[in-house]
Amino acid sequence: MSMIRVFCSTLKNMRKSFRLPGLVILSVCLLRSTIVMGETSPTSPESLIDRHAEAMVAFKQHLKTLERQCHASQQPALAKQIKSFYPAPIRDTLFFFRPSDEHLRAPLTPEAEAFLTLRQKHGKFLLNLAEEAAVIGHAGVAISLLYEALYCDGDLAKARQILGQQKWDGKWVSAQKAARLQRGERWSDRFGWLQESNLERYEQGERLFRGRWISEDEDGRRHQQMRNGWRVETDHYEVTTNLSLDAGVELAQKLEDFYTVWSQLFADYYLSPQVLEKRFQQTDAVAVTPKKYKVRYFSNRSEYDLALARIQPGIEGKTLGVYLEKMRTAYFFAPASSNNEEVDLSQITIWHEATHQLFAERIATRNVSGLKNNFWILEGIACFMETLHEVEQGWKLGGPMAGRLPAARVRLERDRFYIPFTEVVSYGARAMLNNPQYRTLYTQAAGQAAFLMTADNGRFRPAAIDYLHRIYRGRAKLGTLASLIGTPLTTLDVEYRNFLFQSAAQ
Ligand SMILES: [Zn+2]
Repeated sequence: MSMIRVFCSTLKNMRKSFRLPGLVILSVCLLRSTIVMGETSPTSPESLIDRHAEAMVAFKQHLKTLERQCHASQQPALAKQIKSFYPAPIRDTLFFFRPSDEHLRAPLTPEAEAFLTLRQKHGKFLLNLAEEAAVIGHAGVAISLLYEALYCDGDLAKARQILGQQKWDGKWVSAQKAARLQRGERWSDRFGWLQESNLERYEQGERLFRGRWISEDEDGRRHQQMRNGWRVETDHYEVTTNLSLDAGVELAQKLEDFYTVWSQLFADYYLSPQVLEKRFQQTDAVAVTPKKYKVRYFSNRSEYDLALARIQPGIEGKTLGVYLEKMRTAYFFAPASSNNEEVDLSQITIWHEATHQLFAERIATRNVSGLKNNFWILEGIACFMETLHEVEQGWKLGGPMAGRLPAARVRLERDRFYIPFTEVVSYGARAMLNNPQYRTLYTQAAGQAAFLMTADNGRFRPAAIDYLHRIYRGRAKLGTLASLIGTPLTTLDVEYRNFLFQSAAQ
């Protein structure tokens, strides 16, 4: 549960979506192109799609040939790496690529070198496509293509620079990280950022507390209360916890990963065509310290409930995590290892509330906790993001059996529970949260959001993102969804049902 808010563009009519064959399903919204390039644009989205598809076919053929050569030359590990380079497409599933750091290791065989060369060439091509997408104002496509380019070639300087990164000691890092490194700080996966000169003593069990060295145990005692908790900062998050320093660092890193995925998927939510264009043109990274997303991570449920009871009376005992827009903070607690439900739900709760937080804070938004209508999608989209999973190539989201989708099928088919879109859009926060069947409503909202985000190769996704934007900006009305989609909501009911059951039949 919890709350959020949005931003977004004013244009919308010409939105389209397309599938870049073979891998990621990306969506495009065409309208912004008119602002940037008008009718003189040499690039059409159709041409981008076609060229991406053609290049992908050729690239995959080269990979296939190389894979055979690896088998012939007794290099099974490399053959396997080449074979799984692109994830096999899965229906209604989105993939997000992790930038590669292969360039840090010199290829050891001619085949490895050939693999690198192929990737570099394809990466360069994808970067060019990303630049074209940026020119015509398609932020979601441009940013996803940048990540795909960096997955192929992590050393693609222009792509890194567009993302605000710079090179430090051979590795690409954010401008913010570079500034810290320059100050003599180092990142530790156990301790977070600290002065390099202190790292060894930390590893030996000492801790620096207000200028003096103390033992790890003493440090634990001094951070036992949340008001004195450890504070872990990453590029975008500030996590305060009284559980342990390691746990705070681990959570902050997870949230950074989440931020990367969210930023690709919802680029059209927070990047206007003008900002997108600027981002692609001005690649000199400046160390900025953006406002951090605040997260509080309690060591157990009772402390969490006690703290929340003071902030938001009435919700104690009812949540496993929450984002409170009035505090602009997300709250979580460490699951008790003996409580299977808490353990199972802990991860998805983090993705759920982190979604609320990013929609609410990534742009200037209106309060949505008291929304009078269109509330369902705020919960639906957070439920959809619960399906995030790490995979070999990066991250995977959605899929026919993911998250609450199987339950949504059961509710619809067996229990005959279904609230049509026309009625669902009329529900405000109170109507949804106070509904005796709110769990079932959440399940349906999760299914409907997955439908809008992934059905038919993402056909409705640009409209869904625009819809979220309007809601968070306080501009959504009862007819907004229908007008953005361009069809009556009754048609959407039918298509949703088809989506649920065709998807399950595969
Ligand atoms: Zn929620």
